Amino acid sequence: MKSLCLILGLLGPLSGQAREPHPSVLPISVLEHSNWVFEVPVSPSLVPPPPDQFDILRVSGRVCHIAPARLPWRIYTGNPDYNRTVDKAIETWNQTGLDLGLGYLYARSDDPGASDLEIRWFDPQLPTDKVAATWWRARDDGRRVLGISLDGSFAVPEGNRAQILTHELGHVLGLGESYQPGDMMYFQMEHRRLNLDQVQLSLRDKLALRWLYQQRDFAPIWGKRD
Ligand SMILES: [Zn+2]
Repeated sequence: MKSLCLILGLLGPLSGQAREPHPSVLPISVLEHSNWVFEVPVSPSLVPPPPDQFDILRVSGRVCHIAPARLPWRIYTGNPDYNRTVDKAIETWNQTGLDLGLGYLYARSDDPGASDLEIRWFDPQLPTDKVAATWWRARDDGRRVLGISLDGSFAVPEGNRAQILTHELGHVLGLGESYQPGDMMYFQMEHRRLNLDQVQLSLRDKLALRWLYQQRDFAPIWGKRD
């Protein structure tokens, strides 16, 4: 009975005098509000677009990303000396994947046969003017990642190396280049010396990833196991 009295108290002051019966004012108002909340049409125009000056990988006009059911992708590092670098890059993307409800995006694998992606350090195919490259084979219906090549020089500070790998792993997820300094996906290498703690995504990187993985009409990105 006590809780019932509380509810009546919310309906309005009880004067003790005879009042016009008005029993449905509050319920109707609650119902209308509830209908309004649940029946707001979701218009595609309400989904925020990707950030300005941020490319998204496409084939035949469709955006590309890894099918969510295929995540996390397993990365074979090829050389345990670089495990800290690889772990930092993986952790950077995974934190955002978890924040966005996508779950883990990457995991490190010690088994090349069970991996989706292999990293090649000191790859002679890497152009001399590049510190890293992600190799692709594009088709009309999707894109296959053939691997990532990285300059493995230990003269490069560990944080910069992790930053470079994190950038390349952003491409593997389907993100293109950014043209705004400060983004992980900015197309030019960071010139400052970085330590591992300074490797992080910008808000724009995260918004671009969120937008990309909201797209249901996409061309898949395949790895070695697909
Ligand atoms: Zn790039």
